[in-house]
Amino acid sequence: MVNAGTVILKKGKEHSIERYHPWIFSGAIQQSTGSLTDGCWVEVLSYKNKRLGFGHYQKGSITVRMLHFGADEPGEHFWENKFRQALQLRRSAGLPTETTNAFRLIHGEGDGLPGLIVDYYDGVAIVQAHDAGMHEDRHRIAEALQKALSPALQTVYYKSHGTLPGKMRDEHYNEYLSGMSAVPHIVAEHSKKFYIDWEEGQKTGFFLDQRENRRLLGEFSAGKTVLNTFCYTGGFSVYALEAGAQLVHSVDASEKAIQLTRKNLELNGFDAEKHACYAIDTFDFLADKHHAYDVIVLDPPAFAKHRDARHQAVRGYQRLNAEAMKVIRPGGVIFTFSCSQVVDRQLFYDTIVSAAIQAGRQIKVLHHLSQPADHPVSIFHPEGEYLKGLVLFVE
Ligand code: SAH
Repeated sequence: MVNAGTVILKKGKEHSIERYHPWIFSGAIQQSTGSLTDGCWVEVLSYKNKRLGFGHYQKGSITVRMLHFGADEPGEHFWENKFRQALQLRRSAGLPTETTNAFRLIHGEGDGLPGLIVDYYDGVAIVQAHDAGMHEDRHRIAEALQKALSPALQTVYYKSHGTLPGKMRDEHYNEYLSGMSAVPHIVAEHSKKFYIDWEEGQKTGFFLDQRENRRLLGEFSAGKTVLNTFCYTGGFSVYALEAGAQLVHSVDASEKAIQLTRKNLELNGFDAEKHACYAIDTFDFLADKHHAYDVIVLDPPAFAKHRDARHQAVRGYQRLNAEAMKVIRPGGVIFTFSCSQVVDRQLFYDTIVSAAIQAGRQIKVLHHLSQPADHPVSIFHPEGEYLKGLVLFVE
């Protein structure tokens, strides 16, 4: 790793870094030396000149994202070692398995690599950079992935067009860094099959974070009428039908998402009579109240990406949940989620309580849901927990 310079912290600002918190805010910096440009590596020192570690530099509120803690140098095998450690964590959590060959390999801060996401789809790695440093290092990352995942890895695709900071976004940053695989590509998740299209699909092509929650939905679906809103690839719908749902309706505002859902339902060989897809806004669909459902899934996109949008987001969650609570059959079950990082677990819970008050229904909480083990959260970086869910029984 080539360091472009040094950042010296103000007195007292070393403590959070010594506790492995990965972010250095601009206000914590006393002085910087060298020719620092966005995306370069920097050495981080305490006010007493003690080496605290190394990170990526980028002008802005978070100025350094730590990649390596302690006095020793990151070393030439830095990336490969990080990927091997990440793989070891997944293996300890039982991934991949005979029946699941798609998982998240790198989950940013949770894997000690702020700004980097890598999703693995049976031989294909999709790399997503959220900052200039990961963008600058993309070829090193691709090379190290090849080594760490050899011989299984065939293709590395870089997909950062939508995730890099504003000024970098204009340029086209979606490309194959090594190999090439045709899309759509088929993966297995708990023996269910899914088409993945990283070139055209949202995010890296699939929402791996709902794997265990989709499986749990199956346990509630036999013989039931299920509504899957914000369905995207139809993940929850596939699990519900597999588990013997009587009828499944899938709803998404995007026509492309609905086509993907149809293809995935077909791929898994379900009887077409048992499902219907609607390309429509969920709020409009619920307002229609044409159908009664036993089970409803509410998995909207992040209603708030920033703190200042939080109030608006909370109102969105409240309205959505209240509508679902009003239309569900007595004895029905709602799977409700929020993936907004700025809406924490307590706030989400409180929002559901006010939705229940608004709907005037008796409700019991059956499960508290979260993100799976391949989306780990560093204990020193609780901000990494973003997916919250509740399973509700509506009397
Ligand atoms: N549940 C999915 C992931 C949901 S992603 C899974 O398990 O994979 C969120 C989806 O919501 C996207 O597909 C997006 O097209 C859709 N969406 C966004 N706003 C919507 C709205 N108002 N009504 C319906 N769908 C919407």
